[in-house]
Amino acid sequence: MSWDASLGPSEHLTWGEVECRCGCGLRAFSPDAAALFERIRSKSCVAAGRDCPIHVESGVRCPAHNASVGGKEKSRHLFGDALDLWWPKYLTHDMFAFICESECRDSGYHRYRWGCHVDARRDRARW
Ligand SMILES: [Zn+2]
Ligand SMILES: [Zn+2]
Repeated sequence: MSWDASLGPSEHLTWGEVECRCGCGLRAFSPDAAALFERIRSKSCVAAGRDCPIHVESGVRCPAHNASVGGKEKSRHLFGDALDLWWPKYLTHDMFAFICESECRDSGYHRYRWGCHVDARRDRARW
């Protein structure tokens, strides 16, 4: 891989996208979750037949920020291995949800109205 680790946790993620949105500076992001994002992005590009940017709504959360956005007490965002992703512009919702759910076969996945939660936990979770 050729990304500059000072810019982000993986080639298509910046630290600004994954760090806690409250401004606390927390950016302890799991390499497994970065790899998961890259797999989802890569499959999305193939399905779309073009580059397919994906907006990250939420990555790492500190406990205070997690509480302020109504996150679950044991949210994987607290562990830095979860991402909330908006529907990308160049795919149908069903196609993107299918890609996310397939990549989270053995981890956490949930479909919202606005996109998908994906995470890199070690057991399957749906809600
Ligand atoms: Zn914070
Ligand atoms: Zn989430």
